[in-house]
Amino acid sequence: MEKIKQRVVLLAEKLKEDIFDLADEIHKNPELGNQEFKASRLLREKIAKYGFKIDDVEGLPTAFIASKKGAKPGPTIAFLAEYDALPEIGHACGHNLIAAASFGTAAALGSLEDDLAGEVMLVGSPAEETNGAKVLLVQKGVFAGVDAAMMVHPGNRTTAYATSLAMEAIEFTYTGKAAHAAAAPHMGINALDAVIMLFNGINALRQQLKSDVRIHGIITEGGKAPNIIPDKATARFYVRAKEKAYMLEVKEKVIACARGAELATGAKLSYQNFELPFDNLITNRVMADMFKQNLKEIGVSDISDEEEGIGSTDMGNVSQVVPAIHPHMAIAERNVAPHSIEFCLAAGSEFGKNAALLSAKAMAMTAVELAAKPELLEKAKQEFIKATSPSL
Ligand SMILES: [Zn+2]
Repeated sequence: MEKIKQRVVLLAEKLKEDIFDLADEIHKNPELGNQEFKASRLLREKIAKYGFKIDDVEGLPTAFIASKKGAKPGPTIAFLAEYDALPEIGHACGHNLIAAASFGTAAALGSLEDDLAGEVMLVGSPAEETNGAKVLLVQKGVFAGVDAAMMVHPGNRTTAYATSLAMEAIEFTYTGKAAHAAAAPHMGINALDAVIMLFNGINALRQQLKSDVRIHGIITEGGKAPNIIPDKATARFYVRAKEKAYMLEVKEKVIACARGAELATGAKLSYQNFELPFDNLITNRVMADMFKQNLKEIGVSDISDEEEGIGSTDMGNVSQVVPAIHPHMAIAERNVAPHSIEFCLAAGSEFGKNAALLSAKAMAMTAVELAAKPELLEKAKQEFIKATSPSL
């Protein structure tokens, strides 16, 4: 292993207690998206100790940008920290470990002091499970001067090559007319029927779609009493596909189903996005190869070459503006599903915390390698340009 890599591995190892404490503290205090005040404060306090300058982000009180410039010239590399939990089941996506790993990476690199080349950023990114603050951080230009971005997500297997689906979150509302359901049904317009027809229309549509599409919804409002024709009914859907362009095509078909139900029932349709749209994740293979090699160098051998991940993440939006990786690191057996109680337990376990430490080491190694070998960074950038400009 090269000397500079050895050094950051040792620096990260020294941070073990800090990394584990952070993971525990956030795990014990689960906070929902955009309410992660404790987690955000804790991260800010901890990283400030390593000489990072902290900036607030307007309009996102639980986001922050911590940065530290090195004495030597080099690339600017951002590490994303997530720290939001899920309702009722706490840290069942293990975002406490994402925060701990990215903190560990930034702190280890910051501890290089005079040998730090370029700039290290720790980007506190709230609400991954809901409104995806990274979408706004991208729009605000946070990644404008950034050369590469990384984060590691806990999973039930280890892989450097994660993918995720492009996604839109759409809420459909139908407005009908209330009437006595037995005495005067002919005087009513049934908004719930429109929602049920929307579900049936989408179910028929599935047969004609590519296999990577996911459409799933719930009824959030469906009437007040069985003896009143529902005058208002609402459903929320997520529409997902591997490529954003196809997802947008599917979205139009779903909206056509909604219009069909409007026409059939007479209940007036309106629709809107209830969360920000997520782009599909483009894993930069040059960086992912480096990360994988670095994991091997610190003794991680059970690494899958499968492209993994069928969910959606706002890291997708980051990966469309800067070369990025979002590897998965095993914290549980393969049969343990994310967003389950078992996964929450794994996110608080010694094994989980150790995975965060290993992630921090491998990310820090990848960062110093990108700084020491500009030709690799250039290769990563060329790949990024190709991946984000389909016409080339
Ligand atoms: Zn997650």
